[in-house]
Amino acid sequence: MGLIVQKFGGTSVADLDRIRNVAKRVARTFDQGNDVVVILSAMAGVTDNLIRMANQVTESPDKRELDVLLATGEQTTAALLAMTLRAMNYAAESILGHQAKVVTDCAFGNARILDIGADPIRALVQDRKIVVMAGFQGCDINGNITTLGRGGSDTSAVAIAAAIKADICEIYTDVDGIYTTDPNICPRARKMARISYDEMLEMASLGAKVLQIRSVEFAKKYNVPVHVRSSFSDEEGTMVVNEEASMEKLLVSGVTCDKNQARITLKKVPDQPGVAAKVFSPVSEAGIIIDMIIQNMRSGGQTDLTFTVPETDFKQAMAIAEQVATDIGAEEVLGDQNIAKVSVIGVGMKNHSGVAAKMFATLASENINIRLISTSEIRISCVVTEKYAELAVRVLHSAFGLDKP
Ligand code: ASP
Ligand code: MG
Repeated sequence: MGLIVQKFGGTSVADLDRIRNVAKRVARTFDQGNDVVVILSAMAGVTDNLIRMANQVTESPDKRELDVLLATGEQTTAALLAMTLRAMNYAAESILGHQAKVVTDCAFGNARILDIGADPIRALVQDRKIVVMAGFQGCDINGNITTLGRGGSDTSAVAIAAAIKADICEIYTDVDGIYTTDPNICPRARKMARISYDEMLEMASLGAKVLQIRSVEFAKKYNVPVHVRSSFSDEEGTMVVNEEASMEKLLVSGVTCDKNQARITLKKVPDQPGVAAKVFSPVSEAGIIIDMIIQNMRSGGQTDLTFTVPETDFKQAMAIAEQVATDIGAEEVLGDQNIAKVSVIGVGMKNHSGVAAKMFATLASENINIRLISTSEIRISCVVTEKYAELAVRVLHSAFGLDKP
């Protein structure tokens, strides 16, 4: 018997039939003798709709009022599920973010959880109530309603699980787990039984569709076991757990592909102290996140400086780079949006050499040219021409033994 947090995403509560299905699953878990705290998203499409309406009212809706509006999506599903459970003769009670004492900072629309007072939920659980909580919402120290950013109810769930020391946080969604790579790119992708928090964070480009990244950071910090699984079947999904528990003894656990990347090169930059700072300070001031940076020596006291930015920031970053190039006397600025970053990820590579060599050889065997390389302790990334990215994913997936039999 345990204390179980179950979170259901928007597609799992998309209409009353599905809410009834959720109620049955919750009731089953409760009947098995567990205490259950349910965290809900808004019905699929509702948050988008509310945003659309706000934008019809005014071009720049007031942020405080927008959060008051967006929080209603989750308030609706929490009430409906609690009602459904009560109609089935279960003692269920809904609770909103502020009632559950989810205290956040004041960043409307993207607030961070600062503290959760576990007492209100604990008290309900002690009464053997099924607690149905509205995800995605909290309240700042001034009592304003805040929301946690798109996909934020994942973070609500993991944070509540940490606060009440739940045995597990189950995330019910419309996919049946985390895959070794995107099954749309590689039909031989396999569902992973386990993945470590760090791998999950590195696999953001895959995982972000399933879990809000902040929820994984939370899970790691408080060591909350997270089970990502489908609300439409009883099949086991993927456990996201700490490294000791995650070991499948594989060098590489997954392959990712990020096409939302662009490359910018400043050619013939004077090779002097302070130049890199002059290039990157204005870029960071513009709030643009740089991923890879490479500096090449040239003869004659000059270097080439290359970096990558999200494709959505490309235009702005190019404009800044061109301005800086004029200021520091670089020869020219080149940009390329047709690139993609392909990565292999695995905690297993921490203690093994040869993963990079194997990755490069595999790409070479398909004549795929590597434009840039970067690494972390558990990831190796290569930038390649975008049109070869999917081929690169497939050959790496096979080369590292991830293909399903
Ligand atoms: N309803 C919110 C969204 O659509 C939060 C969530 O579903 O996690 O982003
Ligand atoms: Mg989601």
